[in-house]
Amino acid sequence: MYKVPFVGLKNAFIDHGDEVIEIVERLLSQGELIMRDELEIFEKDAADYVNCGYGIGLNSGTDALHLGLRACGVGEGDEVITVAHTFVASISSIVHCGASPVLVDICDDFNMDVSQVEKSITSRTKAIMPVHLNGRICDMDEIKRISQKFDLHIIEDACQAWGANYAGTKAGAFGSVGCFSTYPMKTLGGFGDGGLAVTNDSNIDKNMRLYRDHGQVRRDGKIDIAFHGFNSRLDNIQAAVLSLRIKLLDSWVSRRREIASQYNEGISNNPIIKTPPPPTMDGPYFDSYQNYVIRVEEGKRDLLVDHLKRNDVEVLISWPIPAHFYESLGLSHFSLPMTEKASTEVISLPMYPELTDEQVNYVVDVVNEFKE
Ligand SMILES: *Cc1c(COP(=O)(O)O)cnc(C)c1O
Repeated sequence: MYKVPFVGLKNAFIDHGDEVIEIVERLLSQGELIMRDELEIFEKDAADYVNCGYGIGLNSGTDALHLGLRACGVGEGDEVITVAHTFVASISSIVHCGASPVLVDICDDFNMDVSQVEKSITSRTKAIMPVHLNGRICDMDEIKRISQKFDLHIIEDACQAWGANYAGTKAGAFGSVGCFSTYPMKTLGGFGDGGLAVTNDSNIDKNMRLYRDHGQVRRDGKIDIAFHGFNSRLDNIQAAVLSLRIKLLDSWVSRRREIASQYNEGISNNPIIKTPPPPTMDGPYFDSYQNYVIRVEEGKRDLLVDHLKRNDVEVLISWPIPAHFYESLGLSHFSLPMTEKASTEVISLPMYPELTDEQVNYVVDVVNEFKE
């Protein structure tokens, strides 16, 4: 066990354990497991939180992206513009629709370089998938402008952006569909896999509900099948736990921002280490710090990782190999210098609300003791 482990799931459970046990006992004893009231309640809670008309509970963030693209009509022969500096699921969801991912590079804040989007558009482009990485929203003014000019859907990968906003609009509320993950390690996580999509479009809502439940239309006790669908329902128990936890989300985001401040102020005197943008309130960005990612000058990253581990601080590298470098994925025709550079420089430090001030200060001290 590390002095400062990378994740803090255990503490989150201990803090609210009684309420969780009560929910699980009640729903199990009543047999309320699939597509019950608790699912609808969470969908409404989450849609209200993001300020969208509809919420659709799904079994993962990956399915939210995949089914969201399908509900926007993305299919065979289409192209979708996204980034390679993301979890592979963003890109796979495009491929699962029969469409082709078109990858653009990133900026210093690890998000889509919007200046590259317009020149990547072809007659086959159907959508843009901005990925709000690490709890920071992409430049949505520019992405919205481009999507309107070229009549493209925006499918937001907001899996890492629970609680973030841009000029007051919450992640997920900018495009045709906003896609979230409730995987345990996400800023709003359940106790297993889960996901959610939000939309303001009643047709997209209707189609996503059909996709997640085998295309079944239930009416007057009869079942009709609209098309070949999938099984992607969010479990009722997960939904009930998430309704409990979404009430805590804003306080968790505040704590994450506090920790980010402490890191930003503490890790300031080493010229080879760059910290991410601080959680200031000016400008459009309100970051929720799903991850706190520093960059280390080329060639020194792995030395700092070793130093942190030796001093009992657990860290993660997301991602040491950019997605377009995996030959099996067939994306090696893309050249993305900023993405490739980031993969050699990034380190994610421990970041979760249960971290104590002592732990944060300890990480700061260990980083500051690093001599290359
Ligand atoms: C976690 C994540 C996903 C996938 O979500 P799952 O719920 O694990 O399927 C997609 N994109 C990004 C950026 C993620 O961080």
